[in-house]
Amino acid sequence: MFRIGIGNDTHRLVDGRPLVLGGVQIPSMRGAEGHSDADALSHAIADAILGALCEGDLGVHFSDRDPQWKDSDSLHLLSRVMWLAHERGLSVVNVDATVMLEEPKLRPYVLAMRENLAATLGVEVGCVSVKAKTGEGIGTVGQGVAIEAQAVVLLNGEVTESTSDRATSA
Ligand SMILES: [Zn+2]
Repeated sequence: MFRIGIGNDTHRLVDGRPLVLGGVQIPSMRGAEGHSDADALSHAIADAILGALCEGDLGVHFSDRDPQWKDSDSLHLLSRVMWLAHERGLSVVNVDATVMLEEPKLRPYVLAMRENLAATLGVEVGCVSVKAKTGEGIGTVGQGVAIEAQAVVLLNGEVTESTSDRATSA
């Protein structure tokens, strides 16, 4: 059975925070504000997987009030979400994601992001697409106020009973 999920994530950009995307730390004057490492790309993909599982969103599983997740590595959160999928007998077919950020240019870092994400998701690099766009100088992205990420994920496998139960009761 196939299951599809969609995810998106937004973080405010502030001075003095690291900019982490797909587990890659990117040299930048400003970084994303957040409780964890604020990796918007990993968060959007994790949300897409949780969506495919009918399991709510990241906030349900990793509360931003829980000190356990303070400054945590979002690839670690993503691997826990992946474990949830594997537990239901589902694995990733492919992911397509877009990061919206005005600066810096992300293209030099995209392959490293894809490699990190593919390793975490247990798929080949060719199954993880990451696209980088700007906000064309308008809106919160274009004015450098925010970073956004969107992701779609397709899962495949034998859906176990617990997934169907949760899907109907959610
Ligand atoms: Zn986030």
